[in-house]
Amino acid sequence: MPERVCLVYISAGSNLGDRRAHLEQGLRALGDSGVVPTRISSVFETEPVDAGSQPWFLNIALEAKTQLSPGALLERCLAIELEDGRFRPYPNAPRTLDLDILLYGDWIIQTPRLTIPHPRMVTRRFVLEPLAEIAPDLCHPVLKKTIRALLAACPDSSAVRLYSPGEPR
Ligand code: AMP
Repeated sequence: MPERVCLVYISAGSNLGDRRAHLEQGLRALGDSGVVPTRISSVFETEPVDAGSQPWFLNIALEAKTQLSPGALLERCLAIELEDGRFRPYPNAPRTLDLDILLYGDWIIQTPRLTIPHPRMVTRRFVLEPLAEIAPDLCHPVLKKTIRALLAACPDSSAVRLYSPGEPR
């Protein structure tokens, strides 16, 4: 376990069942695991990307403080997804809860099990928009660009908009 508290950024998404309840459960479970949210974005409703025809997602980004190591944080995220009812019948299947570690301080990690910064975060508008809302000036430790700049340059044109429950799409 790192001796000091580290600031981490996590993307959470859901496109199955009560999407908002799954996100809330994910936040609660992270808090109970020592991953204490310090900033949470608005909820965005987002078009599925690279996933064929499936329901739209709700996505948020969060900043949190934790003393968990990167590996322990990944294990907690996977366990929370499972506890929330996630199963993986096929790649990119709809999911009750998906937790991706975007950034862990300014660490750069590349192991068979864990890549940080998350390799697809800069190509996904559904990740960058919520993240830019809470941390626009945060610097990507590999690309050395702010999240605001990465969002402005993001080629992904899929729909990402603030979520208003009850409003027709
Ligand atoms: P997914 O199906 O998108 O939930 O992918 C989960 C798998 O991606 C996990 O089993 C991890 O081993 C792997 N992975 C690699 N890097 C990351 C990361 N930064 N955050 C979350 N999962 C990661």
